[in-house]
Amino acid sequence: MSDQRPGLSGLPPHELDEWLAARDEPAWRARQIADALWTGGGVTDAAAIVTLPAGLRGSLGAFARLDTVGDTETQVTDGGLTEKALHRLDDGVLIESVLMHYPATRASRERHTLCLSSQAGCAVGCPFCATGELGFGRDLETAEILDQARYAARRLAAEGKRLTNIVFMGMGEPLLNLDRVLAAVEALSDPRRFGLGARHITVSTSGVVPGIRRLTALGPQFTLAVSLHAARDALRDVLVPLNRRWPVAEVVGAARDHAAATGRRISYEVTMIGGVNDTPEDADALAELLRGDHAHVNLIPMNPVAHTPWTASPMPVIESIAATLRAAGIETTIRRNRGQEVGAACGQLAAQRAGELPAPAVARRRERLVMASAAALRGERSDEPVPAGVGE
Ligand code: SAH
Ligand code: SF4
Repeated sequence: MSDQRPGLSGLPPHELDEWLAARDEPAWRARQIADALWTGGGVTDAAAIVTLPAGLRGSLGAFARLDTVGDTETQVTDGGLTEKALHRLDDGVLIESVLMHYPATRASRERHTLCLSSQAGCAVGCPFCATGELGFGRDLETAEILDQARYAARRLAAEGKRLTNIVFMGMGEPLLNLDRVLAAVEALSDPRRFGLGARHITVSTSGVVPGIRRLTALGPQFTLAVSLHAARDALRDVLVPLNRRWPVAEVVGAARDHAAATGRRISYEVTMIGGVNDTPEDADALAELLRGDHAHVNLIPMNPVAHTPWTASPMPVIESIAATLRAAGIETTIRRNRGQEVGAACGQLAAQRAGELPAPAVARRRERLVMASAAALRGERSDEPVPAGVGE
């Protein structure tokens, strides 16, 4: 039986005010609780809020959970530059977050970026993604999203450091859990709570068009990143199966409208898969698609994932695609992967824990993907259905 108490970090401030008022507590107690919950990543136990009277500490602890990711294992890699956290939630579900440290360079200050999860598993099912292979588990609660950030902030605070950036690029499709993601972003950017500027928050989507349109109506909340991976529908149908519901033109159309309405540049991500989406035709199609847009492209070498037949494109190929895009006037960067040895493409640790598939199932999956990508490269569109749970 899972714990029914709400996670305190996800509680809207007015609900905490009401809870205090119902106990005849002065309104300023809310400030004491918020300070304890958010400063330096905050406390994980009501008993540690020493500014509160003992009775109130007890009733706060009985009312709400001060931490929803208390059961966490951390692995450090890349000589200390990458910290991967595997969080076991209250109902036993496993999710991941990755903290990446970027030392200062001559051009930029030191940064500490957290990649966090919005769902356990994912319904979209991109075949190169470990989370996609797990399938959909459940949406995360707002507190479960925020407590990943508080966990990372505490690790940094112990060394006198602060989180500088948050990216929703861990497990799950944030725009399919949009209410909770928006509530979490509100808390993250609220100066009285987590206090990170909205410009330092990026949410990545595989292309949920109604979600993008909803964000556009709300106005700028954060940087929007779109996982494109292919400019041609036949190939994108295979690499991002919800393309069968919202094809490339609709996704890029919605992203363009978003950029125009908010004045914020769109970031496009392209995971580079050797022999699949790195042909000269793909590079030209991408350049034509995005020519003249207020956009930035990130080319990311594919992280090796078990159960796929694919590996990263060779670096010279990625560099020549970057050159094609730049020649079309599109700002392009090549992103290096982090933490490969602990499986930092989010979802890999959880997938390993989910257990190994029998060898014949792995062989069938690989064969199916080879056939599907080969057909897509010939321009044939797949007749596979839209994945369940992604297109209302
Ligand atoms: N569901 C959202 C956000 C989480 S995935 C989305 O798809 O945008 C975050 C990014 O990691 C996406 O761009 C995704 O395509 C990429 N990714 C997933 N598996 C990867 C892998 N094996 N190698 C490199 N990038 C990967
Ligand atoms: Fe889901 Fe994103 Fe992985 Fe695709 S890449 S399966 S949308 S988490």
